[in-house]
Amino acid sequence: MIKSPRGTRDLLPPDTALWNFVEAAVRDVFRAYNFHEIRTPIFESTELFARGVGEETDIVSKEMFTWEDGERFDRPALVDAWRRAHTGESFEEVGSYFPGEGITELACFYDETHVAEIVMFSTRADEVVMKALAEAVSKFDGPPSHLNHFSETVRGRLVIPSPVPANSESMTEDGIVIEKLHGAFHKSSQSLTLRPENTAGVVRAYIEHKLWERGLNKLFYIGPQFRRERPQKGRYRQFYQIGAEIIGPAASGSQSPARDAELLELLATLLERVGIKDWTLELNSVGCPADRVTFNEALRQALAPAVEKMCGDCQRRAVTNPLRIFDCKVPEDQPIIATLPTIGQFLDEDCRAHYAEVKNILQAVGVPYVENPRLVRGLDYYTRTAFEFTHGALGAQNAILGGGRYDGLAESLGSPQPAPGIGFAIGEDRLVLSLAATADSVARKPDVYVAPLGAGMNREAARVARELRRHYPAADLVVELGDETFRLKKSFEAADKMGARYILIVGENEVKADAFALKHLASGEQVTVPRGELARRILGK
Ligand code: AMP
Repeated sequence: MIKSPRGTRDLLPPDTALWNFVEAAVRDVFRAYNFHEIRTPIFESTELFARGVGEETDIVSKEMFTWEDGERFDRPALVDAWRRAHTGESFEEVGSYFPGEGITELACFYDETHVAEIVMFSTRADEVVMKALAEAVSKFDGPPSHLNHFSETVRGRLVIPSPVPANSESMTEDGIVIEKLHGAFHKSSQSLTLRPENTAGVVRAYIEHKLWERGLNKLFYIGPQFRRERPQKGRYRQFYQIGAEIIGPAASGSQSPARDAELLELLATLLERVGIKDWTLELNSVGCPADRVTFNEALRQALAPAVEKMCGDCQRRAVTNPLRIFDCKVPEDQPIIATLPTIGQFLDEDCRAHYAEVKNILQAVGVPYVENPRLVRGLDYYTRTAFEFTHGALGAQNAILGGGRYDGLAESLGSPQPAPGIGFAIGEDRLVLSLAATADSVARKPDVYVAPLGAGMNREAARVARELRRHYPAADLVVELGDETFRLKKSFEAADKMGARYILIVGENEVKADAFALKHLASGEQVTVPRGELARRILGK
Protein backbone atom coordinates (compact mmCIF):
# COMPACT_ATOMS: atom_id res chain seq x y z
CA MET A 1 0.00 0.00 0.00
CA ILE A 2 1.25 3.48 -0.86
CA LYS A 3 0.91 5.90 2.05
CA SER A 4 1.25 9.65 2.27
CA PRO A 5 4.90 10.65 2.85
CA ARG A 6 6.20 11.08 6.40
CA GLY A 7 5.17 14.38 7.93
CA THR A 8 2.33 14.98 5.46
CA ARG A 9 -1.33 14.22 5.99
CA ASP A 10 -4.62 14.18 4.20
CA LEU A 11 -7.17 16.68 5.42
CA LEU A 12 -10.45 14.87 5.14
CA PRO A 13 -14.10 15.82 5.56
CA PRO A 14 -15.53 16.77 7.97
CA ASP A 15 -12.23 18.38 9.18
CA THR A 16 -11.93 20.31 5.94
CA ALA A 17 -15.09 22.15 7.03
CA LEU A 18 -13.15 23.44 10.04
CA TRP A 19 -10.31 24.57 7.78
CA ASN A 20 -12.75 26.36 5.51
CA PHE A 21 -14.46 27.93 8.49
CA VAL A 22 -11.11 29.29 9.70
CA GLU A 23 -10.11 30.54 6.27
CA ALA A 24 -13.45 32.24 5.68
CA ALA A 25 -13.25 33.94 9.07
CA VAL A 26 -9.70 35.20 8.52
CA ARG A 27 -10.58 36.45 5.05
CA ASP A 28 -13.35 38.50 6.65
CA VAL A 29 -10.92 39.94 9.17
CA PHE A 30 -8.31 40.74 6.51
CA ARG A 31 -10.98 42.51 4.48
CA ALA A 32 -11.95 44.68 7.45
CA TYR A 33 -8.29 45.80 7.77
CA ASN A 34 -7.93 46.42 4.03
CA PHE A 35 -5.53 43.54 3.31
CA HIS A 36 -5.45 41.92 -0.13
CA GLU A 37 -4.49 38.38 -1.06
CA ILE A 38 -1.23 37.43 -2.76
CA ARG A 39 -0.38 33.95 -4.06
CA THR A 40 3.27 33.18 -4.74
CA PRO A 41 4.76 29.93 -6.13
CA ILE A 42 5.30 27.07 -3.71
CA PHE A 43 8.87 26.76 -4.92
CA GLU A 44 11.45 29.47 -5.39
CA SER A 45 15.18 29.82 -6.03
CA THR A 46 17.10 28.35 -3.13
CA GLU A 47 19.09 31.55 -3.02
CA LEU A 48 15.99 33.52 -2.03
CA PHE A 49 15.75 31.65 1.27
CA ALA A 50 19.49 31.51 1.84
CA ARG A 51 19.65 35.28 1.53
CA GLY A 52 16.25 36.13 2.94
CA VAL A 53 15.86 33.75 5.86
CA GLY A 54 19.56 33.38 6.67
CA GLU A 55 22.15 30.63 6.13
CA GLU A 56 22.59 29.99 9.84
CA THR A 57 18.93 29.49 10.65
CA ASP A 58 17.66 25.99 11.35
CA ILE A 59 15.27 26.35 8.46
CA VAL A 60 17.92 27.00 5.83
CA SER A 61 20.72 24.89 7.28
CA LYS A 62 18.67 21.78 8.05
CA GLU A 63 15.08 21.80 6.97
CA MET A 64 14.66 22.75 3.35
CA PHE A 65 13.43 20.50 0.56
CA THR A 66 15.91 21.46 -2.13
CA TRP A 67 16.69 19.95 -5.49
CA GLU A 68 18.73 20.67 -8.55
CA ASP A 69 16.55 21.42 -11.48
CA GLY A 70 18.46 19.93 -14.37
CA GLU A 71 16.22 20.99 -17.21
CA ARG A 72 17.90 24.27 -17.90
CA PHE A 73 21.44 24.25 -19.08
CA ASP A 74 23.37 27.32 -19.60
CA ARG A 75 25.25 28.14 -22.69
CA PRO A 76 28.40 29.75 -21.29
CA ALA A 77 29.03 26.69 -19.15
CA LEU A 78 28.65 24.42 -22.16
CA VAL A 79 30.98 26.52 -24.23
CA ASP A 80 33.47 26.42 -21.43
CA ALA A 81 33.27 22.67 -21.19
CA TRP A 82 33.70 22.41 -24.91
CA ARG A 83 36.83 24.52 -24.79
CA ARG A 84 38.26 22.47 -21.98
CA ALA A 85 37.60 19.30 -23.97
CA HIS A 86 39.73 20.67 -26.79
CA THR A 87 42.79 21.46 -24.77
CA GLY A 88 45.53 22.96 -26.85
CA GLU A 89 43.17 24.40 -29.41
CA SER A 90 41.64 27.75 -28.90
CA PHE A 91 38.06 27.78 -29.99
CA GLU A 92 36.13 30.91 -30.44
CA GLU A 93 32.41 30.85 -30.33
CA VAL A 94 30.76 32.64 -33.22
CA GLY A 95 27.52 30.90 -33.80
CA SER A 96 24.24 31.12 -32.14
CA TYR A 97 21.30 29.32 -30.92
CA PHE A 98 18.63 27.64 -33.04
CA PRO A 99 15.97 26.04 -30.95
CA GLY A 100 14.07 23.73 -33.22
CA GLU A 101 12.45 20.37 -33.45
CA GLY A 102 14.33 18.19 -30.98
CA ILE A 103 17.26 20.58 -30.83
CA THR A 104 18.08 22.11 -27.54
CA GLU A 105 21.14 24.04 -28.44
CA LEU A 106 23.24 24.65 -31.48
CA ALA A 107 26.53 26.47 -31.39
CA CYS A 108 29.31 27.12 -33.85
CA PHE A 109 32.98 27.39 -33.00
CA TYR A 110 36.01 28.56 -34.93
CA ASP A 111 39.52 27.56 -34.20
CA GLU A 112 42.59 29.56 -35.14
CA THR A 113 42.78 28.02 -38.59
CA HIS A 114 39.12 28.93 -39.09
CA VAL A 115 38.05 25.39 -39.27
CA ALA A 116 34.66 25.49 -37.74
CA GLU A 117 32.67 22.92 -35.94
CA ILE A 118 29.04 22.93 -35.23
CA VAL A 119 28.00 21.43 -31.99
CA MET A 120 24.49 20.35 -31.53
CA PHE A 121 22.83 19.25 -28.36
CA SER A 122 19.73 17.40 -29.23
CA THR A 123 17.26 15.14 -27.50
CA ARG A 124 17.45 12.79 -30.49
CA ALA A 125 19.51 12.20 -33.60
CA ASP A 126 16.95 11.32 -36.25
CA GLU A 127 16.19 12.67 -39.71
CA VAL A 128 14.12 15.65 -38.58
CA VAL A 129 16.92 16.84 -36.39
CA MET A 130 19.51 16.30 -39.10
CA LYS A 131 17.40 18.29 -41.55
CA ALA A 132 17.06 21.17 -39.12
CA LEU A 133 20.78 21.05 -38.64
CA ALA A 134 21.49 21.07 -42.38
CA GLU A 135 19.29 24.14 -42.65
CA ALA A 136 21.12 25.85 -39.86
CA VAL A 137 24.41 25.02 -41.55
CA SER A 138 23.22 26.42 -44.87
CA LYS A 139 22.32 29.69 -43.19
CA PHE A 140 25.72 29.90 -41.62
CA ASP A 141 27.56 32.75 -43.31
CA GLY A 142 31.08 31.40 -43.11
CA PRO A 143 33.19 30.58 -46.18
CA PRO A 144 31.34 28.02 -48.37
CA SER A 145 34.27 25.66 -48.40
CA HIS A 146 33.64 24.96 -44.79
CA LEU A 147 30.07 23.87 -45.16
CA ASN A 148 30.75 20.26 -45.96
CA HIS A 149 33.09 20.08 -43.14
CA PHE A 150 30.38 21.31 -40.82
CA SER A 151 27.78 18.83 -41.79
CA GLU A 152 30.21 15.93 -41.91
CA THR A 153 31.62 16.83 -38.59
CA VAL A 154 28.22 17.03 -37.14
CA ARG A 155 27.08 13.74 -38.59
CA GLY A 156 30.22 11.96 -37.75
CA ARG A 157 30.94 13.11 -34.29
CA LEU A 158 29.03 15.77 -32.68
CA VAL A 159 25.42 14.92 -32.25
CA ILE A 160 25.06 14.52 -28.55
CA PRO A 161 21.79 13.50 -26.95
CA SER A 162 20.75 15.84 -24.20
CA PRO A 163 20.30 15.49 -21.31
CA VAL A 164 23.33 13.22 -21.49
CA PRO A 165 22.18 9.66 -20.77
CA ALA A 166 23.61 7.74 -17.86
CA ASN A 167 25.27 5.31 -20.27
CA SER A 168 27.16 8.06 -22.04
CA GLU A 169 30.38 5.99 -21.92
CA SER A 170 29.01 4.12 -24.89
CA MET A 171 29.57 7.23 -26.97
CA THR A 172 33.23 6.48 -27.14
CA GLU A 173 34.19 8.89 -29.89
CA ASP A 174 33.53 11.89 -27.78
CA GLY A 175 33.77 10.30 -24.42
CA ILE A 176 35.75 13.04 -22.82
CA VAL A 177 33.54 15.73 -24.15
CA ILE A 178 30.43 14.11 -22.90
CA GLU A 179 31.84 13.61 -19.49
CA LYS A 180 32.84 17.22 -19.22
CA LEU A 181 29.54 18.38 -20.59
CA HIS A 182 27.83 16.31 -18.02
CA GLY A 183 29.60 18.39 -15.41
CA ALA A 184 28.43 21.50 -17.17
CA PHE A 185 24.84 20.37 -17.14
CA HIS A 186 25.01 19.79 -13.48
CA LYS A 187 26.73 23.02 -12.68
CA SER A 188 24.35 25.08 -14.70
CA SER A 189 21.16 23.57 -13.34
CA GLN A 190 19.17 25.72 -10.99
CA SER A 191 18.73 25.02 -7.32
CA LEU A 192 15.09 25.20 -6.26
CA THR A 193 13.46 24.87 -2.85
CA LEU A 194 9.93 24.23 -1.65
CA ARG A 195 9.11 27.36 0.28
CA PRO A 196 9.69 26.92 4.03
CA GLU A 197 7.94 30.21 4.74
CA ASN A 198 6.23 32.85 2.66
CA THR A 199 7.65 36.24 3.65
CA ALA A 200 10.71 35.91 1.40
CA GLY A 201 8.45 35.04 -1.54
CA VAL A 202 6.15 37.98 -0.87
CA VAL A 203 9.08 40.37 -0.66
CA ARG A 204 10.53 38.89 -3.86
CA ALA A 205 7.20 39.54 -5.57
CA TYR A 206 7.12 43.05 -4.10
CA ILE A 207 10.47 43.77 -5.77
CA GLU A 208 9.76 41.91 -9.01
CA HIS A 209 6.46 43.70 -9.62
CA LYS A 210 7.57 47.07 -8.23
CA LEU A 211 4.73 47.04 -5.75
CA TRP A 212 6.20 50.15 -4.11
CA GLU A 213 4.54 52.09 -6.87
CA ARG A 214 1.29 51.55 -4.98
CA GLY A 215 2.68 52.91 -1.71
CA LEU A 216 1.70 50.89 1.31
CA ASN A 217 0.93 47.25 0.58
CA LYS A 218 -1.14 45.16 2.94
CA LEU A 219 -0.97 41.62 1.68
CA PHE A 220 -2.10 38.30 3.05
CA TYR A 221 -1.58 34.69 1.95
CA ILE A 222 -2.90 31.26 2.87
CA GLY A 223 -0.99 28.20 1.74
CA PRO A 224 1.28 25.23 2.35
CA GLN A 225 4.89 25.55 3.54
CA PHE A 226 7.50 22.79 3.70
CA ARG A 227 10.16 22.01 6.28
CA ARG A 228 12.00 18.75 6.83
CA GLU A 229 11.41 18.63 10.58
CA ARG A 230 10.92 15.64 12.84
CA PRO A 231 7.16 15.16 12.70
CA GLN A 232 5.12 15.19 15.90
CA LYS A 233 1.73 16.48 16.99
CA GLY A 234 1.39 20.00 15.63
CA ARG A 235 4.58 19.71 13.59
CA TYR A 236 4.47 18.52 10.02
CA ARG A 237 6.67 18.59 6.94
CA GLN A 238 3.88 20.07 4.90
CA PHE A 239 1.98 22.54 7.02
CA TYR A 240 -0.17 25.54 6.27
CA GLN A 241 0.34 29.14 7.13
CA ILE A 242 -1.97 32.11 7.11
CA GLY A 243 0.18 35.18 6.98
CA ALA A 244 0.18 38.87 6.27
CA GLU A 245 2.73 41.53 5.45
CA ILE A 246 2.63 45.30 5.55
CA ILE A 247 5.37 46.60 3.30
CA GLY A 248 6.13 49.79 1.40
CA PRO A 249 8.60 52.61 0.95
CA ALA A 250 9.47 54.55 4.08
CA ALA A 251 7.35 57.47 2.82
CA SER A 252 4.26 55.22 3.03
CA GLY A 253 4.69 54.98 6.79
CA SER A 254 5.43 51.26 6.67
CA GLN A 255 8.09 51.63 9.37
CA SER A 256 5.71 53.26 11.84
CA PRO A 257 5.07 51.57 15.20
CA ALA A 258 1.41 52.16 14.38
CA ARG A 259 1.67 49.39 11.77
CA ASP A 260 3.17 46.95 14.29
CA ALA A 261 0.36 47.68 16.71
CA GLU A 262 -2.27 47.47 13.97
CA LEU A 263 -1.02 44.03 12.97
CA LEU A 264 -0.98 42.77 16.56
CA GLU A 265 -4.46 44.12 17.18
CA LEU A 266 -5.63 42.45 13.96
CA LEU A 267 -4.27 39.17 15.32
CA ALA A 268 -6.14 39.56 18.59
CA THR A 269 -9.33 40.17 16.60
CA LEU A 270 -8.64 37.25 14.31
CA LEU A 271 -8.09 34.78 17.15
CA GLU A 272 -11.22 36.01 18.87
CA ARG A 273 -13.20 35.65 15.62
CA VAL A 274 -12.28 31.99 15.24
CA GLY A 275 -13.05 31.37 18.91
CA ILE A 276 -9.58 31.13 20.48
CA LYS A 277 -9.50 32.83 23.87
CA ASP A 278 -6.54 31.64 25.92
CA TRP A 279 -3.69 33.13 23.96
CA THR A 280 -0.63 34.96 25.20
CA LEU A 281 1.12 37.59 23.13
CA GLU A 282 4.87 37.54 23.81
CA LEU A 283 6.64 40.65 22.67
CA ASN A 284 10.23 41.79 22.25
CA SER A 285 12.35 44.15 20.21
CA VAL A 286 15.42 42.68 18.55
CA GLY A 287 16.71 46.10 17.54
CA CYS A 288 18.34 47.14 14.31
CA PRO A 289 21.49 45.77 12.61
CA ALA A 290 23.73 48.23 14.46
CA ASP A 291 22.37 47.06 17.83
CA ARG A 292 22.84 43.51 16.65
CA VAL A 293 26.57 44.06 16.10
CA THR A 294 27.18 45.24 19.67
CA PHE A 295 24.84 42.63 21.05
CA ASN A 296 26.54 39.82 19.14
CA GLU A 297 29.88 41.04 20.44
CA ALA A 298 28.57 41.03 24.01
CA LEU A 299 27.19 37.54 23.42
CA ARG A 300 30.52 36.29 22.14
CA GLN A 301 32.23 37.61 25.24
CA ALA A 302 29.65 36.14 27.58
CA LEU A 303 29.86 32.83 25.73
CA ALA A 304 33.62 32.58 25.69
CA PRO A 305 34.02 30.77 29.03
CA ALA A 306 31.01 28.48 28.49
CA VAL A 307 30.71 27.73 24.82
CA GLU A 308 32.83 24.59 24.93
CA LYS A 309 30.22 22.95 27.11
CA MET A 310 27.44 23.71 24.66
CA CYS A 311 26.05 21.66 21.77
CA GLY A 312 27.80 21.57 18.40
CA ASP A 313 25.21 23.86 16.83
CA CYS A 314 25.75 26.50 19.51
CA GLN A 315 29.52 26.29 19.15
CA ARG A 316 29.12 27.03 15.47
CA ARG A 317 26.54 29.77 16.10
CA ALA A 318 28.84 31.42 18.65
CA VAL A 319 31.22 32.08 15.79
CA THR A 320 28.89 32.76 12.88
CA ASN A 321 25.72 34.26 14.37
CA PRO A 322 25.55 34.25 18.19
CA LEU A 323 21.97 35.57 18.25
CA ARG A 324 20.80 32.20 16.94
CA ILE A 325 21.93 30.58 20.20
CA PHE A 326 18.57 31.64 21.58
CA ASP A 327 16.95 29.17 19.13
CA CYS A 328 18.71 26.26 20.88
CA LYS A 329 16.37 23.61 22.25
CA VAL A 330 19.02 21.39 23.89
CA PRO A 331 18.05 21.13 27.61
CA GLU A 332 21.66 21.06 28.88
CA ASP A 333 22.37 24.39 27.17
CA GLN A 334 19.44 26.25 28.73
CA PRO A 335 21.13 27.18 32.06
CA ILE A 336 23.96 28.80 30.09
CA ILE A 337 21.53 30.60 27.79
CA ALA A 338 19.66 31.91 30.84
CA THR A 339 22.79 33.78 31.95
CA LEU A 340 23.39 35.52 28.61
CA PRO A 341 22.70 39.23 28.18
CA THR A 342 19.45 40.11 26.39
CA ILE A 343 19.07 42.42 23.44
CA GLY A 344 16.95 44.97 25.32
CA GLN A 345 20.02 46.49 26.93
CA PHE A 346 21.57 47.16 23.52
CA LEU A 347 18.74 48.97 21.73
CA ASP A 348 19.56 52.41 20.41
CA GLU A 349 17.33 55.36 21.13
CA ASP A 350 15.20 55.05 17.97
CA CYS A 351 14.58 51.36 18.51
CA ARG A 352 13.70 51.96 22.13
CA ALA A 353 11.21 54.70 21.18
CA HIS A 354 9.70 52.52 18.44
CA TYR A 355 9.21 49.64 20.85
CA ALA A 356 7.72 51.93 23.52
CA GLU A 357 5.19 53.32 21.05
CA VAL A 358 4.10 49.84 19.94
CA LYS A 359 3.40 49.00 23.58
CA ASN A 360 1.59 52.32 24.14
CA ILE A 361 -0.81 51.70 21.28
CA LEU A 362 -1.43 48.11 22.39
CA GLN A 363 -2.36 49.39 25.83
CA ALA A 364 -4.61 52.05 24.30
CA VAL A 365 -6.55 49.49 22.25
CA GLY A 366 -6.61 46.97 25.07
CA VAL A 367 -4.50 44.15 23.64
CA PRO A 368 -2.63 42.44 26.50
CA TYR A 369 0.96 41.30 26.05
CA VAL A 370 3.91 40.02 28.07
CA GLU A 371 7.46 40.99 27.33
CA ASN A 372 9.90 38.19 26.62
CA PRO A 373 13.44 39.59 26.33
CA ARG A 374 14.78 36.27 25.02
CA LEU A 375 12.38 36.05 22.12
CA VAL A 376 14.50 36.38 18.97
CA ARG A 377 12.56 34.17 16.51
CA GLY A 378 14.27 31.65 14.29
CA LEU A 379 14.77 33.84 11.23
CA ASP A 380 17.56 36.28 10.56
CA TYR A 381 15.55 39.00 8.87
CA TYR A 382 13.78 40.33 11.92
CA THR A 383 14.47 43.86 13.16
CA ARG A 384 12.82 45.70 16.05
CA THR A 385 9.44 44.17 16.92
CA ALA A 386 9.37 40.39 17.27
CA PHE A 387 6.39 38.49 18.65
CA GLU A 388 4.75 35.16 19.15
CA PHE A 389 1.26 34.12 20.22
CA THR A 390 1.17 30.95 22.25
CA HIS A 391 -1.74 28.80 23.29
CA GLY A 392 -1.63 26.63 26.40
CA ALA A 393 -3.72 23.77 25.04
CA LEU A 394 -1.20 22.98 22.31
CA GLY A 395 1.41 21.27 24.49
CA ALA A 396 5.05 21.22 23.39
CA GLN A 397 4.43 22.94 20.06
CA ASN A 398 2.60 25.82 21.69
CA ALA A 399 3.48 28.65 19.26
CA ILE A 400 0.38 29.31 17.27
CA LEU A 401 1.90 32.14 15.28
CA GLY A 402 4.96 34.30 15.04
CA GLY A 403 6.20 37.35 13.28
CA GLY A 404 8.06 40.58 13.37
CA ARG A 405 9.44 43.56 11.58
CA TYR A 406 11.95 43.12 8.76
CA ASP A 407 13.09 46.57 7.73
CA GLY A 408 16.20 45.45 5.84
CA LEU A 409 14.85 42.38 4.06
CA ALA A 410 13.72 44.00 0.80
CA GLU A 411 17.10 45.66 0.25
CA SER A 412 18.99 42.47 1.01
CA LEU A 413 16.88 40.80 -1.67
CA GLY A 414 17.71 43.48 -4.21
CA SER A 415 15.09 46.19 -3.75
CA PRO A 416 16.43 49.45 -5.21
CA GLN A 417 15.07 51.35 -2.24
CA PRO A 418 14.35 50.58 1.41
CA ALA A 419 10.98 48.94 2.05
CA PRO A 420 10.40 48.52 5.76
CA GLY A 421 7.85 45.88 6.57
CA ILE A 422 6.26 43.77 9.25
CA GLY A 423 4.43 40.49 9.05
CA PHE A 424 3.29 37.34 10.77
CA ALA A 425 2.57 33.71 9.99
CA ILE A 426 -0.06 31.69 11.79
CA GLY A 427 0.38 27.92 11.82
CA GLU A 428 -3.02 26.99 10.43
CA ASP A 429 -2.65 23.35 11.51
CA ARG A 430 -2.14 24.50 15.10
CA LEU A 431 -4.89 27.09 14.85
CA VAL A 432 -7.31 24.35 13.85
CA LEU A 433 -5.99 22.09 16.65
CA SER A 434 -6.70 24.77 19.24
CA LEU A 435 -10.23 25.54 18.09
CA ALA A 436 -13.00 24.80 20.52
CA ALA A 437 -15.39 24.38 17.58
CA THR A 438 -15.76 20.87 16.22
CA ALA A 439 -15.92 19.88 12.61
CA ASP A 440 -19.45 18.63 13.18
CA SER A 441 -20.62 22.00 14.41
CA VAL A 442 -19.43 23.85 11.32
CA ALA A 443 -19.83 21.19 8.60
CA ARG A 444 -22.77 21.92 6.38
CA LYS A 445 -25.36 19.11 6.17
CA PRO A 446 -27.84 18.65 3.33
CA ASP A 447 -31.06 20.63 3.67
CA VAL A 448 -32.90 18.12 1.59
CA TYR A 449 -32.44 14.62 0.27
CA VAL A 450 -34.28 14.19 -3.03
CA ALA A 451 -35.46 10.56 -3.20
CA PRO A 452 -36.59 9.20 -6.58
CA LEU A 453 -39.13 6.47 -6.00
CA GLY A 454 -39.53 3.81 -8.71
CA ALA A 455 -38.31 3.20 -12.24
CA GLY A 456 -37.89 6.24 -14.46
CA MET A 457 -37.87 8.64 -11.51
CA ASN A 458 -34.12 9.48 -11.67
CA ARG A 459 -34.99 11.81 -14.54
CA GLU A 460 -37.72 13.61 -12.62
CA ALA A 461 -35.68 13.79 -9.44
CA ALA A 462 -32.76 15.26 -11.38
CA ARG A 463 -35.06 18.03 -12.64
CA VAL A 464 -36.31 18.87 -9.16
CA ALA A 465 -32.78 18.77 -7.69
CA ARG A 466 -31.53 21.03 -10.46
CA GLU A 467 -34.25 23.58 -9.76
CA LEU A 468 -33.43 23.57 -6.05
CA ARG A 469 -29.68 23.74 -6.56
CA ARG A 470 -30.03 26.65 -8.94
CA HIS A 471 -32.17 28.50 -6.48
CA TYR A 472 -30.52 31.87 -5.81
CA PRO A 473 -28.46 32.39 -3.77
CA ALA A 474 -27.16 28.93 -4.43
CA ALA A 475 -25.40 28.53 -1.11
CA ASP A 476 -28.71 28.73 0.66
CA LEU A 477 -29.63 25.16 -0.17
CA VAL A 478 -27.57 21.99 0.07
CA VAL A 479 -29.25 19.29 -1.98
CA GLU A 480 -28.40 15.59 -2.09
CA LEU A 481 -29.80 13.32 -4.77
CA GLY A 482 -30.68 9.64 -4.31
CA ASP A 483 -31.28 6.84 -6.76
CA GLU A 484 -34.42 5.21 -8.14
CA THR A 485 -33.15 1.72 -7.33
CA PHE A 486 -33.42 2.54 -3.61
CA ARG A 487 -36.57 1.47 -1.85
CA LEU A 488 -38.15 4.17 0.29
CA LYS A 489 -36.66 2.69 3.48
CA LYS A 490 -33.15 2.78 2.05
CA SER A 491 -33.60 6.42 0.95
CA PHE A 492 -34.70 7.34 4.48
CA GLU A 493 -31.65 5.60 5.92
CA ALA A 494 -29.33 7.38 3.52
CA ALA A 495 -30.91 10.78 4.29
CA ASP A 496 -30.66 10.11 8.00
CA LYS A 497 -27.04 9.02 7.82
CA MET A 498 -25.91 12.21 6.15
CA GLY A 499 -27.95 14.34 8.54
CA ALA A 500 -30.35 15.81 5.96
CA ARG A 501 -33.13 18.01 7.35
CA TYR A 502 -35.80 17.02 4.84
CA ILE A 503 -36.50 14.18 2.49
CA LEU A 504 -38.37 14.95 -0.70
CA ILE A 505 -40.18 12.09 -2.43
CA VAL A 506 -40.28 12.11 -6.23
CA GLY A 507 -42.66 9.34 -7.32
CA GLU A 508 -45.07 8.93 -10.20
CA ASN A 509 -48.03 10.45 -8.33
CA GLU A 510 -46.03 13.48 -7.25
CA VAL A 511 -44.83 14.12 -10.78
CA LYS A 512 -48.41 13.92 -12.08
CA ALA A 513 -49.64 16.32 -9.42
CA ASP A 514 -46.53 18.52 -9.77
CA ALA A 515 -46.47 18.63 -5.98
CA PHE A 516 -44.12 16.62 -3.79
CA ALA A 517 -44.14 14.94 -0.39
CA LEU A 518 -41.69 16.79 1.86
CA LYS A 519 -40.92 15.20 5.20
CA HIS A 520 -39.08 16.86 8.07
CA LEU A 521 -36.84 14.07 9.33
CA ALA A 522 -36.51 15.10 12.97
CA SER A 523 -40.22 15.74 13.64
CA GLY A 524 -41.68 13.31 11.10
CA GLU A 525 -44.03 16.05 9.92
CA GLN A 526 -44.97 15.62 6.24
CA VAL A 527 -46.58 18.05 3.81
CA THR A 528 -47.30 18.14 0.10
CA VAL A 529 -45.66 21.14 -1.56
CA PRO A 530 -46.18 22.45 -5.13
CA ARG A 531 -43.02 22.44 -7.23
CA GLY A 532 -42.69 26.24 -7.32
CA GLU A 533 -42.77 26.55 -3.55
CA LEU A 534 -40.27 23.85 -2.62
CA ALA A 535 -37.19 26.02 -2.14
CA ARG A 536 -38.99 28.57 0.00
CA ARG A 537 -40.54 25.85 2.10
CA ILE A 538 -37.27 24.01 2.70
CA LEU A 539 -35.57 27.26 3.63
CA GLY A 540 -38.40 27.85 6.11
CA LYS A 541 -39.31 31.20 4.59
P1 AMP B 1 7.75 30.53 11.66
O1 AMP B 1 7.60 30.71 10.18
O2 AMP B 1 8.80 29.55 12.03
O3 AMP B 1 7.78 31.81 12.40
O4 AMP B 1 6.40 29.80 12.13
C1 AMP B 1 5.19 30.48 12.25
C2 AMP B 1 4.17 29.50 12.75
O5 AMP B 1 4.01 28.45 11.80
C3 AMP B 1 4.55 28.80 14.03
O6 AMP B 1 4.19 29.56 15.13
C4 AMP B 1 3.75 27.53 13.95
O7 AMP B 1 2.43 27.73 14.39
C5 AMP B 1 3.71 27.24 12.47
N1 AMP B 1 4.70 26.21 12.11
C6 AMP B 1 6.02 26.34 11.90
N2 AMP B 1 6.59 25.17 11.57
C7 AMP B 1 5.60 24.26 11.57
C8 AMP B 1 5.53 22.85 11.31
N3 AMP B 1 6.60 22.14 10.93
N4 AMP B 1 4.32 22.24 11.42
C9 AMP B 1 3.22 22.94 11.77
N5 AMP B 1 3.22 24.25 12.02
C10 AMP B 1 4.39 24.91 11.93
